[in-house]
Amino acid sequence: MWFKSVQRSGDSTWVRYFNRRSGGTERCEQGARPRHSTVGPSNSADFASHCHRQSIGFIIFGFNKYQRLMINRATRSRIDWRFQIGGDILAEKVVIIGSGPAGWSAAIYAARASLAPLVFEGTFQPEMIPLGQLAYTTEVENYPGFPFGNIRSFVESAVSKDRHWNLPPIPNHLKDPKKRNSLEDIAPHYAVQGVELMELMKQQALNFDTRVVEDDIVDIDISSRPLKVIPSKGEPIETHAIIVATGARANYLGLPSEEAYKNKGVSACAVCDGALPTFVGKPLAVVGAGDSAVEEATYLANLKSAVKVSMIVRRDQMRASKIMQDRALNHPKIDVIWNTVVEEVLGDGNVVTGLKLKNTQNGSLRELAVGGMFVAIGHTPNTGFLGGKLALNEKGYIQWSLPFRTNTNVDGVFAAGDVADDYYRQAVTSAGTGCMAALDVERWLAEKGIE
Ligand code: NDP
Repeated sequence: MWFKSVQRSGDSTWVRYFNRRSGGTERCEQGARPRHSTVGPSNSADFASHCHRQSIGFIIFGFNKYQRLMINRATRSRIDWRFQIGGDILAEKVVIIGSGPAGWSAAIYAARASLAPLVFEGTFQPEMIPLGQLAYTTEVENYPGFPFGNIRSFVESAVSKDRHWNLPPIPNHLKDPKKRNSLEDIAPHYAVQGVELMELMKQQALNFDTRVVEDDIVDIDISSRPLKVIPSKGEPIETHAIIVATGARANYLGLPSEEAYKNKGVSACAVCDGALPTFVGKPLAVVGAGDSAVEEATYLANLKSAVKVSMIVRRDQMRASKIMQDRALNHPKIDVIWNTVVEEVLGDGNVVTGLKLKNTQNGSLRELAVGGMFVAIGHTPNTGFLGGKLALNEKGYIQWSLPFRTNTNVDGVFAAGDVADDYYRQAVTSAGTGCMAALDVERWLAEKGIE
């Protein structure tokens, strides 16, 4: 099947055909077709005379499906590169900004709907990295479809070899103590790691010929149609529709010791990490006093293995709603430490062993022995690059303009995942809204008659 993009070069206009199955490209004058089309009429004598093969293009014949897939993977980076800089590509159907669960789910659905999505996956930055917040997480035990198992052999078989460098170390423990069948004895046996899950999602999108650009979108232009996304490098890209899936980043205290113990006892998600061996059977601390902090504390305190959870509250009152406060204050395993901030996270280099606390009223210092610290001091949605062009809710998250639809206030711009969700913030809900956004885009394009 050919993917077609019309391009202009000086005064001439020509059409580039990208063969979705073989990975090859052909360049033809407008009105001509590539000689070896796998769909549509192929009997036009004009093909031979009007259509020539691009010098950097190639067509692969005589290989089976698996071999073509391998060749496709091997050449993927070249294809991405060509799509980034190859002439003035006319408007994309949909550009997806973000590479977490929402971005990849949107890409998978959009690609399978023949929308040829272009994903900007972002670059490494201090607070954001490609593949989203899950890339900061270790085991993900609550994403459906990934029970404990010999995950790594599956991941390595599915993810392109050129991305294996990004796979995290295999945990050196057997996760499921029940040992229900012989598979339990096969090491490595563990829950899928955050990065593995994201690499799988990315691979699934790539398998359907999603194009991926390693760059950040720094602005969008909604002043005219088609819309434009402005990458940090290169020319603005015209697109009919945009899906914003840039996520939200958890706020941290900003202590160097906190940074040093991230994933070694410091976490911003009790639901994600609370049941991990690092934390099991140890006294724990939750920093913050909002609804999230109470939720995190009660979640941890309700775990079978819970010992004691200390909430570190910087004032003499909580911000959380009354009902949530009562839940914390009445829980036998939750202890609230008022008027206190964390000065330093203490540890042995591998795991957290305690916190140095400071009383905000009298300045006194004390140490609290804990095996982990959960930071729940709010999230910041990644909307800065939008420059106020999309309507946000009172908490700064992108506002959906219709109930249970991913449309924003700007026609043709959709939002999915945590950037539009201050409530659920789970990988699976994020993936769900990514799917919704792609379906919304597909229907929106059809309504506008854009093919
Ligand atoms: P909030 O902004 O409501 O609360 C943040 C908390 O962190 C505040 O108590 C704040 O203290 C504290 N904090 C901020 N910075 C620091 C710091 N540097 N050191 C110590 N403490 C700090 O964020 P949440 O994530 O809790 O909630 C976000 C929104 O989501 C809220 O509207 C909430 O109602 C909602 N939500 C609802 C839930 C539910 O209904 N079940 C569950 C979770 C969230 P201070 O008060 O002193 O400013």
